[in-house]
Amino acid sequence: MRVSQLLNPTLREVPAEAEVISHQLMVRAGLIRKSAAGVYTYLPLGLRILKKIESIVREEMDAKGGQEILMPVIQPAELWKESGRWEVYGAELFRLKDRHNREFCLGPTHEEIITDLIRGEVRSYKQLPLLLYQIQNKYRDERRPRFGLMRGREFIMKDLYSFDRDEAGLDESYQKMYDAYCRIFSRCGLAYRPVEADAGAIGGTGGTHEFMVLADSGENAVVYCSECNYAANVEKAECRPQVTEAVAVEGERKLLHTPEVRTIDEVCKLLNVPKTSLVKSLLYQGDDKLFLVLIRGDRELNEIKLNNALGGFVTLELAPPHVVEGILGCEPGFVGPVEVPVGLTVIADEEVPLMKNAICGANKTNYHFVNAVPSIEFRIDQVLDLRMMETGEACLKCGAPLKEARGIEVGQVFKLGTKYSKALGATYLDLNGEEKFCVMGCYGVGVSRSIAAAIEQNHDDFGIIWPMPIAPYHCIIVPVSTKDVLVVEAADKLYQELQRLGVEVILDDRDERAGVKFKDADLVGYPIRVTIGSKTLANGQVELRERKTGETQLVLVEEVAQQVKTIIEKALSF
Ligand code: ATP
Ligand code: MG
Repeated sequence: MRVSQLLNPTLREVPAEAEVISHQLMVRAGLIRKSAAGVYTYLPLGLRILKKIESIVREEMDAKGGQEILMPVIQPAELWKESGRWEVYGAELFRLKDRHNREFCLGPTHEEIITDLIRGEVRSYKQLPLLLYQIQNKYRDERRPRFGLMRGREFIMKDLYSFDRDEAGLDESYQKMYDAYCRIFSRCGLAYRPVEADAGAIGGTGGTHEFMVLADSGENAVVYCSECNYAANVEKAECRPQVTEAVAVEGERKLLHTPEVRTIDEVCKLLNVPKTSLVKSLLYQGDDKLFLVLIRGDRELNEIKLNNALGGFVTLELAPPHVVEGILGCEPGFVGPVEVPVGLTVIADEEVPLMKNAICGANKTNYHFVNAVPSIEFRIDQVLDLRMMETGEACLKCGAPLKEARGIEVGQVFKLGTKYSKALGATYLDLNGEEKFCVMGCYGVGVSRSIAAAIEQNHDDFGIIWPMPIAPYHCIIVPVSTKDVLVVEAADKLYQELQRLGVEVILDDRDERAGVKFKDADLVGYPIRVTIGSKTLANGQVELRERKTGETQLVLVEEVAQQVKTIIEKALSF
C-alpha cells in the first residue's frame, strides 16, 4: 500500500469529545470516524487491525474445535419471550417492529437464537459436545456510549456457545475456552488478568470469569491477591465482616436534634465520631418493591451484590425523596432502621449486627439516634454480604493483603448450565434413551474493544505503539525526499522486495516534509520504520527504527529487507 493512495486522515489536534487516550489516538491516527454516539466507521487501517484480532480469535477458537457459523442480527421477539429476557433485558435492547407490526430486536447476544437452532438439530448424545461461534456485530443501547470503541452501541464480538451432555462436559468446554482466551490476549500483546466475576443479565449460576486488560482508564475495579492467584471484579469480591470498636458515646439510646446534618460526614463532624460508628440507611426501589438497606457508615454499598441477593431487578435505584417521605415520613438524610414500618423489608450488611451501638437516622427530619443497638433495636429481615471490597483487606483464600487495579473487560466466559436449554427446551437423548437438557456455556470476546484496550496499554506521547501481531502494517518505508530520484528508486525497490518476502509493508510516497511523515508514522504506530535519505544512501545505508524502543541503526541497503523480516518473525512467534 502507498500512503498517497490510502484513506488515512490523521489529525494533529486532540478531538474534543474524546476523553480517553485510545479514543483520541484512534481518531487522530485516522483509524475510525464517528457516525452516531457509539457507532463508528472503520477506515482502512482500523479495519486491518480489527481483522488481525479476528484472525487470532478465529485461530484459537478453531484450535479448540470451535465451528464458525453466522447467526442473524435481527432476532424475533418470540424467542426472547420464551427465555424470559424480553422483559428483563430492559432499555439496552434495541427493539423494532416490521411492517406487519411483529416485534424484533437487534441481537445484543445470541443465547436465544443458538438454543433455538440446537433444539431443532440435536437429537442424540452422539452429536455432543458442540462448540459453535461467530464473529459479528452486536447491538446494545448503552446508557452511556463512550470512550470510542470501548463502549459502543454497535460493536464487534466473538461469541461462542458450548453444548455438552453434562456438567463434567461443560467444565471441559469452559476450561478450553479459558485457555483459548489466555492465548488470544497474550498473542495480542496484552497484559491481562482473568478475574472472578458477576454473571449479570446473561444469568446462569455455574461460575464466570472476566478477562481484564489492566489499564488506569479501565471502567472496572479489580482486586487481586499479592500472594496467591485470587483475583476478582470488586462487583463480585466476597467480603468478610470486620468488627470495629464500640462507639465512644455511652448510655441509653437517645434522640438527638441534628438540624441540617444529613450526610455521614456531617454527622461524624457534629458528634466527633468515626464513620464506623454510623449506620447508613438507604431506601431502595427494585422495580416496584421497596427495601431498606443498612450498611456501616464507612462502607460502600455494592449494588450488584444487593440486586443479586434480591433476585435481580431490571432497575434497582435509590428511592426518590417523595417516596422516602411517603414511606418513612422524613427526608432521605434522616432515614433510619429503628421502628421501621411493618411490611418494609430490611436488609443489612453482615457488619451491621456486629456493631455494639450505632448512630443512625431517626426517621424524623433533623433527628438522629445515638446508642442504638443493632442486634436488639433494628428489625433486620436478612443479613448478607452487601459491601464493596476495599484495598488492603485480607484475601479470603490465603489471608495476604489484596491490591486493587483498574481493568478493561475484553472477554468473559460463563457457565450457563441449563438456564436456556430448559427455557427453550433444548434436549438430547442420552445413552439410555433418556431425555436430558443440554448443558451450556457462553464465551465472548470484545473484538473491537480489544483494539482500544491495546492502545490504552501501548502508546506514548507521539502515538500508538502496536504490538506486532495486531499492527495495521508491520513496516513503513519513509523516503525523506521525493525529489531525489535515487532515494525514490531505492524506496520503491525495498518496497517490492519486502512485499516479495511477505512483509506487510506500506510506503509513504507522499510529497510531504520528512517531519510530517515521521509524525504520522509515530502516530499510527507502525512497529518498524525504514528511513531512506540521500546522505546515508550515498554510503549504501538506510536507517532502521523500532517504534517500541525508539532505537535506530544504520543498515546496508541490501541487508535491510532480511533484517526487517527477522525482527517481525521474532515478534510474531508465540
Ligand atoms: P460491560 O460490563 O462492559 O458492559 P458485558 O459484561 O455486558 O460488558 P458481555 O455480555 O460479557 O459484556 O460481552 C462480551 C464482551 O463484549 C465483553 O467482555 C466486552 O469485551 C465486549 N463488550 C460488551 N459490551 C460492549 C460495548 N458496549 N462496546 C464494546 N464492547 C463491548
Ligand atoms: Mg461481561
